[in-house]
Amino acid sequence: MNSSQRPGAQNPQQAETRLVTAGRDTKAQKGFVNPPVFHGSTVLYPTAEDLHAHRSEFQYGRHGTPTTRALQDVLMTLESPQCAGVGLAPSGLAAISTTLLAVAKAGDHILVCDNAYRPTRNFCNGMLARYGVETTYFDPLIGSGIEALFKPNTRAVLVEAPGSQSFEMPDIPAIAGVAHARGALVIDDNTWATPLYHRSLELGVDISMQAGTKYIGGHSDIMFGTISANATAWPIIAENIRLLGVCAGPDDVYLALRGMRTLSVRLAQHYRSGLEMARWLARRPEVLRVLHPALESDPGHAIWKRDFTGASGLFSIVLQPKPQKAVDAMLDSLKLFGMGFSWGGFESLAIPFDCSEYRTATKWAPGGPTLRLHIGLENLDDLKADLDRGFAVFNAA
Ligand SMILES: *Cc1c(COP(=O)(O)O)cnc(C)c1O
Repeated sequence: MNSSQRPGAQNPQQAETRLVTAGRDTKAQKGFVNPPVFHGSTVLYPTAEDLHAHRSEFQYGRHGTPTTRALQDVLMTLESPQCAGVGLAPSGLAAISTTLLAVAKAGDHILVCDNAYRPTRNFCNGMLARYGVETTYFDPLIGSGIEALFKPNTRAVLVEAPGSQSFEMPDIPAIAGVAHARGALVIDDNTWATPLYHRSLELGVDISMQAGTKYIGGHSDIMFGTISANATAWPIIAENIRLLGVCAGPDDVYLALRGMRTLSVRLAQHYRSGLEMARWLARRPEVLRVLHPALESDPGHAIWKRDFTGASGLFSIVLQPKPQKAVDAMLDSLKLFGMGFSWGGFESLAIPFDCSEYRTATKWAPGGPTLRLHIGLENLDDLKADLDRGFAVFNAA
């Protein structure tokens, strides 16, 4: 199985140390620091008796290799002690779809936050609806008011903390309290903060998934997803991973493992640069509002402070009202901020977005054009100079 159940989260060392030391077996690697990339499908058994008994450390490529195990050990050690297992998926979206297919069956109902990653909604509205699972979207700021949306057949609640375009902060402990009283599981898309800054399994989340494509990979060169689950949820996640044949490619697994080794320094820099840039932008006359939960002025700040130990480099801004062509001219003038989807790599990005295209439970009316920024690892003064140029073009348009 492409999943790990080995204990390790009780390690008393700090997270930065565990990210460096976990999943390493120097002796097995003949002295080398890193494991090789195991490309493998077939595993040979020495005797017929071993074959009959499936007696072998690894059984089949889809179910795991020494490379996937090393990565799972690191992921496991980063998670909260509640984590009972970590599954690997070929993309973040595959981690979400695998999770949702595991928690709901025909005739069930699920609750999904209105600010969820759009392809998550597409999966609910497309495949889950086709298989007889009903989805109700809810205001991410609903808190314990979510109780009113529960039906006798509600099996799960999915939250994203914070939403990756609009950055509202859900009150996870309040939502989890209601969900658990109703016998439903709580799923958290933890891609933004990663378990390093947001220990969601300790806050009542049963299944925490990440698009490893983002900060785990960290270099914009892999597609990858993770599913961490507590003891309640892990058996159904592990079974579903096996039934669906979900596994990640060996090279992406290796690059994810390599990414984990430097996650703490990369995230710390994204956090620092992102927050300083957010403060700088908040003082700009062109900017109406900055949507960043680590800013004291943000409506989600109190929850962020309570539930997170850091922030990543992704946030949004609302610009003063101007025609879209002014925004586009600004984007076209930027030299360091690339335009592209995804985020979490070393490079800075800027994209326009419009949540009103898909929201159903809440109204999105920010009062001006919106841009999502990813602050990369470039020098901050260079990035500010780039945006300065962009604002000059925005103002002139
Ligand atoms: C990118 C992203 C995903 C999906 O990840 P992929 O690896 O692109 O499939 C899921 N959730 C969030 C919040 C994301 O930003």
